[in-house]
Amino acid sequence: MAFQYTGGSVTKALKALAEVVKNSTEKLGFWKGLDDEELKIQQKDIKDFLALIEAKKGTLDNSCEEAATLAPPPPHITPLEQSHKDQRCTFPQVTDSGEDGELAVMVQATEESKEKIFVSKAVDKLQGFIRKELYHALLHRFTTKKLVKSAVTKVVLQHPESNRFTKVGGKVSISAHKFIHRARLNLLVCNFNTWSGQSKECRRCGHPKESQDHILQSCRYGLPKLITQRHDAVLWKVKEMIEKGKKKDWKLSIDKSLQGHGELRPDITLVSEDKKEYIFADVTCPYETMKMMQEGWNRKIEKYDSAYKHLRKQGKKVTVLPIVVGSLGTWWKPTTASLVALGIEEAAVKREIPEICSTVLEYSKNVYWNHIYGDHFSRPPMKFGKEKPRGNSWKNEIEKDGSKIQSE
Ligand SMILES: [Zn+2]
Repeated sequence: MAFQYTGGSVTKALKALAEVVKNSTEKLGFWKGLDDEELKIQQKDIKDFLALIEAKKGTLDNSCEEAATLAPPPPHITPLEQSHKDQRCTFPQVTDSGEDGELAVMVQATEESKEKIFVSKAVDKLQGFIRKELYHALLHRFTTKKLVKSAVTKVVLQHPESNRFTKVGGKVSISAHKFIHRARLNLLVCNFNTWSGQSKECRRCGHPKESQDHILQSCRYGLPKLITQRHDAVLWKVKEMIEKGKKKDWKLSIDKSLQGHGELRPDITLVSEDKKEYIFADVTCPYETMKMMQEGWNRKIEKYDSAYKHLRKQGKKVTVLPIVVGSLGTWWKPTTASLVALGIEEAAVKREIPEICSTVLEYSKNVYWNHIYGDHFSRPPMKFGKEKPRGNSWKNEIEKDGSKIQSE
C-alpha cells in the first residue's frame, strides 16, 4: 500500500497521511506500549517528517521509481513481506515489531535520523500528535502566512481581549453579538456593501460612500449624537477609573482648556499637586484598520505635543496619552500603558478592558441601527457596557460631587 501525495496543500497531504495511519492502525492494531520518553523522541521525528513534507510540497510524486530520484522519496507503507532492511526508504513502512509477529510501523524522518519503530498501544497517542502538529501548523500558517486577512482581523488579532467575548460571552448583549460578527466581516447591510447597480450614496447625508466606516465614524447624521456619545462613554469610564487610581489627588479636568494655555480642550487634563507635571489624555475610537488606529494614536500625540511645548520649555513635565479603542470593540494594545500612566492600577485596567470594549461595541451597534432606522430608532436600554450620564454636566468639576447624575 503506497501513501500517495500528489502535491497541493500540506493540509491535504497531512490529512491523507493521517487517514492512512488511521486505517492501517485500525486494521493491524499496532503501535502500543511506548513510554513517555520514547514518545517524545517520536514526536520530534514526526515534526521532522512534517517539515520534510512541507519542504517537498508539490514535488513529491506517488510513483516509487520517480520517487527514488527525489531526495527524499514519497512517504509510503510497504507490505510486511518486503523487509525494511532491504530498502532505503525514509518514510513510514509496515514492519515486524519483532514481538510475536505483531505488526508495527517504522519511521525514519531523514536518511540521517534513527529508525523508529512504532508498535501497538501508541496508536492513539501518535494520532494525537499528528492532529496536534496539524493544528499548530495550520494556526501558524493562518497567523503568519495567510496574507489575505481583512484589515479588521489584523486589528482584532493584536489583542486577545478584542475577541474574548466570543468564547466566554462576557459583557456583550446578544444584539451586539448579532451586530459585531457581521460588522467585523464587513457584512453589515449598507449601500456601499451592495453589488447591484444601486447608488452607494449615504442615505442620510449624501456622502458618496455609505460604507461601514462612514456610518460608524463620520456620518453627519450620527456624529452629533451617538458617535459623540460613544466617545464620551469611554471618557466617562476612564474618568471613573482615574478617580479611584493613584493620581486621584491630582487636579482632574474633563474637556476643558488649560487656563492661559490656548483654546485646545483635551479630554483629560491631569495636573500634579505641585503643578510640575501635566498629563493630557485624549480618547478616540477609530475604525479598525491598523493604519487608522495608528494614525488616531499619532494624531493625538502630535496635536498636544505641539500645543503644550511651551510648558516643557518652562521646565514642566508634559505627557500626552492617547486612549484608542476601535469602534468595533477592539482594544489597541498601547492604550493599556496610557491608562497605567494615568495612575490606574494595572490590575484594574486589565479588569476593565472588557467593559470598555463592550461599551464601544454597544454604542457602535446603536450608531448603526440609528443610521438605518432613522427617526424610528428607539434606543434599547443598555444592559452591558458603561452608559455615560445624560448631558455634559458630568464633565464639570463642580457638579462632579454634586447631586446625582442621571443616566442617559
Ligand atoms: Zn452619511
